[in-house]
Parts: sequence; C-alpha cells; structure tokens
Amino acid sequence: MSEETVTGPNGALEATHPLALAPVTGPASNVDGFVRQFLRNLNYERGVPLSASSPNDQYFAFAMTVRDYLMARWLEDLRRQRVTQSKSVCYLSAEYLLGRQLDNNLLASGLTDIATEAMAQCGIDIEELRAQEVEPGLGNGGLGRLAACFIDSLATMSVPNIGYGIRYEYGIFRQTFVDGQQVEQPDAWLELGSPWEFPHPEFAQTISFGGHTETYDDEGVTRSRWVPSWNVRAVPYNYMVPGYLNGRVNTLRLWSAQATNSFDLRVFNSGDYEEAVRAQTYAENISKVLYPEDSTPQGKELRLQQQYFFVAASIHDFLDHMVADDFGLENLADRVIFQLNDTHPVIAVPELMRVLVDEKKLEWDAAWAITQKCFAYTCHTLLPEALEVWSVELLGRLLPRHLEIIYRINEEFLLEVRERFGDDEIRLRDMSIIGEFPERSVRMAYLATVAGAKVNGVAELHSQLLRDKVLPDFNEFFPGKFTNVTNGITPRRFIRLANPELSELITSALGTGWLTDLERLRGLESYAEDPDFRAAFREVKAANKRVLSDVLRARDGFEVSDGHMLDVMVKRLHEYKRQMLKLLHIVTVYEGIVSGRVDAASVQPRTFIFGAKAAPGYAMAKRIIHLINAVGSVVNADERVQGRLKVLFPQNYNVTLAERLIPAADLSEQISLAGKEASGTGNMKFALNGALTIGTDDGANVEIRQLVGDDNFFLFGMAEPEVEALWARGYKPAEFYQHDESLRRAMDLIASGAFSGGDRSVFEPVVSNLLYDDRFMVLADYASYIEAQAKVDAAHADEDAWTRSAILNVARCGFFSSDRSMRDYIDRIWHTPPAF
Ligand SMILES: *Cc1c(COP(=O)(O)O)cnc(C)c1O
Repeated sequence: MSEETVTGPNGALEATHPLALAPVTGPASNVDGFVRQFLRNLNYERGVPLSASSPNDQYFAFAMTVRDYLMARWLEDLRRQRVTQSKSVCYLSAEYLLGRQLDNNLLASGLTDIATEAMAQCGIDIEELRAQEVEPGLGNGGLGRLAACFIDSLATMSVPNIGYGIRYEYGIFRQTFVDGQQVEQPDAWLELGSPWEFPHPEFAQTISFGGHTETYDDEGVTRSRWVPSWNVRAVPYNYMVPGYLNGRVNTLRLWSAQATNSFDLRVFNSGDYEEAVRAQTYAENISKVLYPEDSTPQGKELRLQQQYFFVAASIHDFLDHMVADDFGLENLADRVIFQLNDTHPVIAVPELMRVLVDEKKLEWDAAWAITQKCFAYTCHTLLPEALEVWSVELLGRLLPRHLEIIYRINEEFLLEVRERFGDDEIRLRDMSIIGEFPERSVRMAYLATVAGAKVNGVAELHSQLLRDKVLPDFNEFFPGKFTNVTNGITPRRFIRLANPELSELITSALGTGWLTDLERLRGLESYAEDPDFRAAFREVKAANKRVLSDVLRARDGFEVSDGHMLDVMVKRLHEYKRQMLKLLHIVTVYEGIVSGRVDAASVQPRTFIFGAKAAPGYAMAKRIIHLINAVGSVVNADERVQGRLKVLFPQNYNVTLAERLIPAADLSEQISLAGKEASGTGNMKFALNGALTIGTDDGANVEIRQLVGDDNFFLFGMAEPEVEALWARGYKPAEFYQHDESLRRAMDLIASGAFSGGDRSVFEPVVSNLLYDDRFMVLADYASYIEAQAKVDAAHADEDAWTRSAILNVARCGFFSSDRSMRDYIDRIWHTPPAF
C-alpha cells in the first residue's frame, strides 16, 4: 500500500483509499475488514489520517478495532446475564494485576494473524504498537494477578461473572533505582487514556460516609437508619474480559470516585470556593492510588474508604441491574455469590445486612440467613501481621451503622459459641470479631469467616494450616466450612502469549486443545524420552533467552551472557520470601572465588536475576534491594570472577517483564520459610515454562513437587513442623553463624563493607537483623540451601537429564491451570451452573 493511496486528497479521511469508501458491514473478520475498521477508527475516533498519526494514535485505533470485533458478543453476554436468572459470580477484589490487554484480546478473539497482516499492509510495525500499551498495574503481586487469571478462566469457561474492583488512577508505583536504591515514581497509566475502558456515568452509585445513626418508628416497628454526612459518586468503567476463542465476553467493572453535586452546592453555600474544591479533591482521592503494600496493611482511613466505596457500589450495582424488582430477596443466593478476595472487601458483609434490614426492611434473622449464603471468603495469608483489622474508632466514625451491625453479628455469634462451649472466656475472647488489644478493633478475617458460606485457603498446606493454626476455633465451630482451592494461572497469558515457541512445540506434539484442557500436557511425558524433542525444547529455551536478552538490553542496558544458567527470583520483596537467602548463596560463591579457595574456572556460569518491588514504607525490604544491587555492581565488575557470575536486577518487575523472564528461566527460586507462603503462583508459571524449582516445602511448592516428582525438584530446608519445633526450642540465629564457616564468611564479607565501598554501616542493619532476630530463619536454612544449590550445579551439567526434567515439569503441571481452580470453586463453593 503506497502512501498516496493511504492519504486522501482531503487530508482528514482516507478518502481515496478504496477500503475507506466501502461500507462497514460487520466485524473485521478478514484482513480487508480489519484495515477498513482500523482506518475508520483512526479517522473518526482519533481524528487523524494515517500519514499524520502517532504510534499512540495507531495503537488506539488498533485496540479499538479489536474491541469492535468483540463488541457484539459482549453486548449479547451483558444482555444474557441480565435476562437469564442463572447464578452469577461476583468476584470482589481490591486488586486486578491485569498486564497488557492488546495481545490477550487479539488471542482471545482469534484475530492475531489477521491483525498482523492488516498492520503490515498499512506499513505499521505491530511490535511498535504493542510497546505503546502501558500495563494496568492495579495490583501489588500474586493476589491481584490471581484475580486477573480467574476472570480470564471464567470467561473461557463461559461462567457468567462480573469482576468488581477499583479503577485506581495510579496503579502500583514504577520502580526506579538511584544508586542502587529504590525510588518510586507514580504510575500514570491513564495519562494517554485507555482504549479498553467504557465509562458509564449514567450508572453511577452514590456512596455515603460518616454521620450518625438513629432509630425511628416504622408503623410500630423500631428501625435503625444511617444519616451519613458526606458522599461520593462511584462511576463504573467497564472492561471486556473475552474468553479464549469461545465467543464469550465477561465484564470487569472498576469504580472511579467523583465528587457529587453536593460539593458544588457547598460553593454557593459557603462562598469559600477553595474549600469547596478541596472537598471535591478529597472525594476523588478515594480512587486515586493503589496502596503499595503487599501483605502488611497499614490501617489507613483512605484505604477503608476505598474498600467500602467499591464494595458498596458493587452490591448496589448488582441489586439494581441484575436482580428484578419483584425478585424474592430470600432467594438472593440463587442469583449471586460474592467471592471475597482476601479481607479487603469484607465490609461488604455489613453493607448487605444494612441494605436488607434497613432498606428492604427484612427481619434480622432472615437477612443474616441470606447474607451467610451470599458470601464466601478466600484467605491469602498466614502472616499474623497481614490479617487486616480496623480500629473501632475509625470504623465507627466512617461507617457508624456498619459498626453497629458488626457488633450485633458478633453478639449473636458469641451467644452461639457460649451455648456450645459454655462460659469459656478465653475461647470467647479468641473468637470475638472485636479484638481488644492493642486497641479495640474489628478483625476482618473473623467477620468474613463467620459470615461466609465457605472459607478457603489457596494451597493444600495453607488450607490445612488455616484450619489447624490460624482459625482452629472457627474450624471446630463450623464443621465443613473450611475448604481448599489451590491457586492456578491462566495458560493463555503465561504459556501461549509469554512463550509462543513452547506453545508451538507443544501443539506439534499434542495437537490443539491443550490450552483449555491443560491436563493434556501429560501427553508430553513420553516426549521427554525423545532426543529430537529434547533438542527442540532446548532450542525453545535458547530462543527465549535471546528474546530476554534483547528486552533487558533495551530496557535496562544489561547484557545477558550466552551459555549461562538463568537462575531467577522474581516476586515482591519481603523478608518471608527470603531474597536474602538467595543473596547469601551468591555471596558465598563469590567469596569462594575471591578468597582463592575456589577456582573460578570450575564455577558453572550462572546469571542471577532478581525482580522485586518493596513497599515504600518497608525499610528492611528496601535495604535488601540496595544490597542486591550493591552485590551486583561488585560481582559483575570483578575480573577474578571471569564473567562466570552475574547478578542482574532489572527495575520495575511487572507482568510484562514476567512474561519475558519466566520463559527464559532455567531455575525457579521459591525459597520462602515453610509455613509462610500461602501458595505462590510464580512457582506455577515457572514450572509450566520448563524451569526446575529449587524450593522449600511451602505453599503450592508442596503440590508441584508431588506432581513432578522428587527427581525433578530441588527440595531443601525445614518443613513447617520443624520450623515450629525450632521456634519452640528457642531459635538463636547467631549459633548458626558461629557453627557454619561458609555462612560466616559470606556474612562477614557483607559486614566488612565490601559491597558498600568500605562503609560498614550501610548494610549493618541487614546483617544484625539476621544475626539477632531472623524471624524467617534464613540462617537456619542456609546450609541446606547451599547443599541443594550444589545439586543444581551437578544436575545442570547433564544437559539431557536436565531437559528431561524440564519437560516433565511442563507435562505434569497441567493441574495448575486457573481453569481447574475455577472448577474447584464451582464444585466446592459456588455451585454455579458450568455455562450460560
Ligand atoms: C505471578 C506474579 C506475582 C506472584 O509471584 P509469587 O512468586 O507467587 O509471589 C507477582 N508479580 C507479578 C508481576 C506476577 O506476574
């Protein structure tokens, strides 16, 4: 296509282009149709001709063309969800870590080839368009990514679902390093707009806060009502969630906060314009920014506002639009299940009670019976500090009626406990939804457990520990309430899109169909014995390393050396995940070389890659990031190492980077202290992309190891009962330091200032934390870890055996598809019909 035919004489429209003149009759299901629709979008939606369009214009027009193709199906599914009376899954999650949308939506609609050809015809490099998209980072890590995988699976399985959440104007911060230290930059992902969202201000909900409660006489019945003092508008933005090649499109509905007209009124009343604008800003702050804390909630007022804001909007949205006016609310559980993704949305429980009792005027007991059937709760943690609590003072000030309702729920619950167990004051104190220390507060996990029809952990071990250690009284009191659903990941994004070469190889062996029936990967087991297949598999890995190398060069200026094992640890920076243990291994190998005890030429070449964001207020995590970077600068520059060790820490780990790193990895680091990682999902992504795992018996590692077999997994470290026993005996990390020479040398090297230009104070807090506190028992597991790493080296030296293990990891991990997770939720918790 020449420039003349593209740019029309009248400039604005591609008028001389034959396709621009032809009528648009239907979806862009062929190359000509795609080009035509693309040009129309460029002209009519962006207001530019192709010749004057920027890459961003082209990206928008391209995305809109994909959108147009999905539109008819989306509208049909929206209609169907409204008119059919089948049960919907409302997934309530404060986070959705979506990753880029363009490729996913192309894949789901089967348009990839057509679109690629269409762009080629327009002389556009589709890679450049891909690069335009800023990923919506509306989550911190695993929990938010899980929500994104789940809605993908539900759409692919044709299960009616609405994902409800918050349209944060700023998602997870963009991480930069300045002198090796993390500096956070705002993530202005909406700066250039998003082609994927559809605002619907006409369906806004008004969400109230503050004020007081009062009772009144309602024809002889004393009722309560809430008289709030301020409110905001919740405006829904809809996003398509297309199923994979099944013509289904579900909806993700994210709420954005806007000031209500009452704020304008204040301008007139007060005459204080500035104050009125300030108040408006206050309202809009609610959806301004994602809290960047992963597993350590801070109890901030704005966060409770966010939580109530989005769940109240979601419940009212569902009741207003999905439930007919004459529907008997006593049967609400036949229409909906609200799945609570951790405790963040749990304030939805008293909100539904308030609606049913105060607004719909149901009896308390009837309302409670309904509520208990409409919610289910997923717990995501074992860390006590991650269990969310809200001070009674704050909750009562922001949501006074909800606090009353929570008190009543608790009162009636404790009455039942008393009936069952007698006046066991310790048990009553331990089970109370209201905690007293260090201040009177609402324990959201307890509220969710009492209210939920089911409570699930996210891996077998986690669910067992929930029952036995975290909530044992509740497990005893509610037999059958606790269950497990092991997490999963969507193979569409994390195999097909992230690793197209492996996908092709799998398809060449197994045919199509495995992407929606991942257990079929079992068929690869026999191929593990086939030398040609192994060679092809190795070639895929090598090709993925080349892709990664290009990405890291362009993105971070890194060079990835050929012939290195890629040893990757990517996940949030948290002490329990033990990036320090990985670092001690690196420092140990390095120390061996520089002290002359180890011949560098005998060291297997390895590149260690880290990716991790630290919560901005988490000082120790930020120090560890600094230390990793410091070790990297020293090791990478030291000629004695002869280039055999490299430490790379690309900044800003996100979904887009994960999609490049994971397919290239040889070794997956899953080394949390046993009993601390609820599940992990990174571990699954790696195994399914043919990396071997070095890991503890923690979270879903347990299930991965059971499936792949001990020969194909590097297990190390204490198991959870041993951890408990060591705590009970009294853990003294300094003793491990004293008795292990190799550990002592590594720690001493860090303490000596070798990685901080001789300044011993910089990393002193990290070292003394390990020596004198070490909550996550890094030193106790060190020796075992080093030993397992030696086994890794030995195993990697046998290329064929390693490849065989890698193939078996892929073949045996089909269980970890999030489609299977969804089936488990349906069977064990939701009891929704499988399809609409
Ligand atoms: C999968 C994923 C996570 C979760 O990783 P874990 O190793 O399970 O903690 C975090 N961040 C991103 C970007 C991911 O894709």
